[in-house]
Amino acid sequence: MAKFSTGKRAFLKGSVAAGLLAGAARAADGKTTDSKTYDVVIVGAGNSGLPAAIFAAQRGLSVMVIEAAGQIGGTLHLSSGQMSAAGTKLQKTKGIDDAPQIHYDDIMRISKGTADPVLLKLATDNAAPVFDWLTEHGLTVYPQHPVTGTTHEPYSRARYAWAKEGGRAILKVLEEQLQPHLDSGLVTLMLASEAKELITNGDGDVIGVVAEDDDKVSHRVMGKNVVLTSGGYMFNPEMFEEMEKAPLHTNITYPYCYGAGLTMAVAVGGYVRGGENHTPLFGAILVDADRPTQMRATARHFPGDRPPWEIIVDASGKRYLREDILSHDAYEQSLAKQPDEKCWMVYDAEIKAKAPRLIGGGFGSPWTPEDTEEAFENGDVPYFYKADSLAELANLAGVDAKGLAETVAAYNDAQSGKTKDPLGREFMPLPIAKGPFYAVQINSWALTSYAGVAVDGELCVIRQDGSPIKGLYAAGELLGMGQMMGNAVCGGMSVTPALSLGRLLGNSILKA
Ligand SMILES: Cc1cc2nc3c(=O)[nH]c(=O)nc-3n(C[C@H](O)[C@H](O)[C@H](O)COP(=O)(O)OP(=O)(O)OC[C@H]3O[C@@H](n4cnc5c(N)ncnc54)[C@H](O)[C@@H]3O)c2cc1C
Repeated sequence: MAKFSTGKRAFLKGSVAAGLLAGAARAADGKTTDSKTYDVVIVGAGNSGLPAAIFAAQRGLSVMVIEAAGQIGGTLHLSSGQMSAAGTKLQKTKGIDDAPQIHYDDIMRISKGTADPVLLKLATDNAAPVFDWLTEHGLTVYPQHPVTGTTHEPYSRARYAWAKEGGRAILKVLEEQLQPHLDSGLVTLMLASEAKELITNGDGDVIGVVAEDDDKVSHRVMGKNVVLTSGGYMFNPEMFEEMEKAPLHTNITYPYCYGAGLTMAVAVGGYVRGGENHTPLFGAILVDADRPTQMRATARHFPGDRPPWEIIVDASGKRYLREDILSHDAYEQSLAKQPDEKCWMVYDAEIKAKAPRLIGGGFGSPWTPEDTEEAFENGDVPYFYKADSLAELANLAGVDAKGLAETVAAYNDAQSGKTKDPLGREFMPLPIAKGPFYAVQINSWALTSYAGVAVDGELCVIRQDGSPIKGLYAAGELLGMGQMMGNAVCGGMSVTPALSLGRLLGNSILKA
């Protein structure tokens, strides 16, 4: 049986290994030779690259997959694996009336028309077939699924589903489906090898990839079709900030996703779009001031899960959001407008005692109510502030003291019914009046890249003038969330399009 992971470079089929290694030996003299020409060369064996390989091999195409890590799976090792697909067999068995067009319309509604219509149509039209294929081959989602969504702006229909084991459950199916093609020799995996640049001919068409193995030997891997599925740039904070003009506070990502595909596509004439649609997630309480860093804890902010007892203020001490608004999008978009994408949740001793629990675990790290107590009492835990007066609290947190005093006074007037809340908030159970006072700094966090490579309706990478770069295709997070879901965060719209467009490439677009 071929293995899926190794600490070293792995060529899982002896004949190919021999051919490439012969080239490698000569590479030491600076004369790297070309490999045989594969029908398809795929860069990145993750969420999108694996289905591309499997479905291409099902059609008899020869495939070489170049993977930088010593294992396959990419971000599926970390991802929650939440998928959204309309018109699935699962929905039909549960009597849920849904269709790709309704999915498309939902995302256009949530993104206010900013998603790329061509890519979104491809993704929504092809989501159900790949979801059905996964469930038919062993993926089991939670029995109560699909749902409309809880952690992101809800969909109009229940079409959002995932397995208890998250992305690894998807990876298990992909591994099982890949195995026969590794055994037959149609697919070859080149692990622990990094694609460095694309090879073009005199017409500018892409005809191969230069990959470097972990002995720093380079190989020229030739292909009739080259597919970039190397993920986004979340492990590359400089690229993130350059592309999205926004801070990257967190580093929750697969360490091989540093934007290599984007750099390679641009180097042969491709271009990047969608970064202007940057949309952060709300609610991170960070470990420290290093950037990017880990999340210590998260604030349970969505009013649908827990109505807000606190107020949210900006650095000037002013409220900028109607806290009881039933919209993740409103929380995310308003945070994106704050300098350094940060704000503060402010409350008093009585709210702290009576409100439902506000602060929970970070992404993958546990956090108890006792941890919150300790953090406030300790005084040295970043972003947890406690003081006897509002003025002192403001100074500790770095918020304008005069602004905060005015804001709390105005809020208390509205809470008591003396005035109407200027932002329209209705849920105001208690004033902020009894010390000690508390504040917790909230930062944005992010999981996916918004800028991505521009492609046409056949997923062929295009130049700024719209002309296709022949032989070069892209799919997955490399296309950027700013194209796929526009200026918004839509549930399951990273994992599912990566899978479905990878399948589409392998199933029909790539030609021998
Ligand atoms: C913690 C976390 C949770 C998430 N949860 C969800 C969710 O529930 N739902 C959702 O829709 N989205 C989610 N996402 C986002 C989603 O998982 C990713 O956008 C998606 O998996 C990306 O798929 P991909 O195939 O484009 O890239 P990946 O799966 O990341 O695969 C890219 C592969 O390319 C390889 N690679 C990179 N550079 C090179 C190179 N130069 N040469 C060779 N190989 C290279 C990498 O090692 C990797 O294996 C989450 C992301 C994270 C980090």
